[in-house]
Amino acid sequence: MFIPSRFKGKRALVIGAGKSGAACANLLASRGFDVLLTEKKPLAEIKSRLKGLHRRVTVEAGGHGPAALACGFAVKSPGLSHANPLIAALKKARVPVFSEIETALAFSAGKLLAVTGTNGKTTTTVLLGELMKAALKPRGRALVCGNVGTPAAEVAAKARPGDAVVMEVSSYQLEDSSCLKPAVACVLNITPDHLDHHGSMAAYVAAKARVFAFQDKSSPCVFNYEDPACRRLARRGPSKALFFSSRRRGGALSAWVHAEQLCFRHGAKVLRVRPPALPGAHNLENAMCAGLMALAAGAKPAHLQKVFSAFKGVEHRIEPAGSVNGVRFVNDSKATNVDSTLVALKALGAARSLWLILGGLGKGNPYTPLIPFIRKSVKGVLTIGEDAPRIERELAGACPVITALTMQNACREILQLAARGDTALFSPACASFDQFKDFEDRGRKFKAFVKTLRRRGR
Ligand code: ADP
Repeated sequence: MFIPSRFKGKRALVIGAGKSGAACANLLASRGFDVLLTEKKPLAEIKSRLKGLHRRVTVEAGGHGPAALACGFAVKSPGLSHANPLIAALKKARVPVFSEIETALAFSAGKLLAVTGTNGKTTTTVLLGELMKAALKPRGRALVCGNVGTPAAEVAAKARPGDAVVMEVSSYQLEDSSCLKPAVACVLNITPDHLDHHGSMAAYVAAKARVFAFQDKSSPCVFNYEDPACRRLARRGPSKALFFSSRRRGGALSAWVHAEQLCFRHGAKVLRVRPPALPGAHNLENAMCAGLMALAAGAKPAHLQKVFSAFKGVEHRIEPAGSVNGVRFVNDSKATNVDSTLVALKALGAARSLWLILGGLGKGNPYTPLIPFIRKSVKGVLTIGEDAPRIERELAGACPVITALTMQNACREILQLAARGDTALFSPACASFDQFKDFEDRGRKFKAFVKTLRRRGR
């Protein structure tokens, strides 16, 4: 655990000058530490991130010199491998290395609510943030941070007693954290992901388990009952386990779905709440998880209904993008892998009138798991980007597959082919970097293009 007073007068090393590294350097500097911010990339590449650095931060770019090893402690940016030569050298020299989030939390007086899982973290974190804002008003605030956008180091230290820090934590951040003690935590689900970084499924699960490893029987952790990996973790963990399920109801569960309502066990009562108006069973899971966490952190039943009714979801996740000539366009640019596209097909497939835009930079996984859902609900697939030839090969015969090359062509094609009432789903199942800056850029460009089509009435 990072205890700042133990390192008083020592120089801090922050490794990696990304958004969170820069925020962490600034935080430490503002709390009286001299900081060396070291980065492997050349200065020209990172200059834009260094604006507004505190005067006590010195930047070392283009590699790491001997000064790094002379620092009293280090903070590592998430994602840097433990095999990184500098980290290995620091460990050999017995320089303590901390994670960005535990460093940030050392300066925070707020109550930590931590969200992790393989899928649904951002949606759950944003919804939980809204719930906690409503619950704590007007005395306390809910500060949302972590993977969700704003670095923990920029936000957590602003939390005062009575505030909540609602943090999305990835497996990368967790694996570096020696001691995290959330007041309330969750593990939404666990499926294989980032195995190239973690080395094995066991190491990935172990990283996730760090979200609750230092809790005790008095601190709740919410788990998905339908996920066997979650159930195993709950059995092993020290926390007070709360379970939600989208498939079964009642019993020992803390939240479940019944008659299109979400049911929450709250003391001796069962609350019934209308879920947010978002498509898919996965969003019911996200809402149950956020709701249970909020209730455990002191939210009242009325907050749940008010916030659920107003919640519009998160950008780029099955997000309505408007209609053109009676065809509904949906932006699911966050679907950067086949699993996510499957989730969208399950959520929207009942209408059996989908046109699916697929493609981009492939991740090497097969597209064939999409076939049963495509057969059921998709009228045609339009391919774009680098992995289009593979998609066309693997999906041949499942439905008509049209090479569109770009997202814009695909939208125009769909308007030629679709009937009124059909849906155009942009859920690429691929990364975006071949044609776009990132998935956000891809989603924004899609929405902007649909807007121009609407203006032209086409
Ligand atoms: P994360 O931050 O974990 O990536 P998001 O909320 O951004 O999660 O959702 C990313 C994608 O994961 C969504 O587009 C959807 O396909 C899928 N997803 C969201 N919630 C769940 C869930 N509870 N279970 C399974 N998949 C989900």
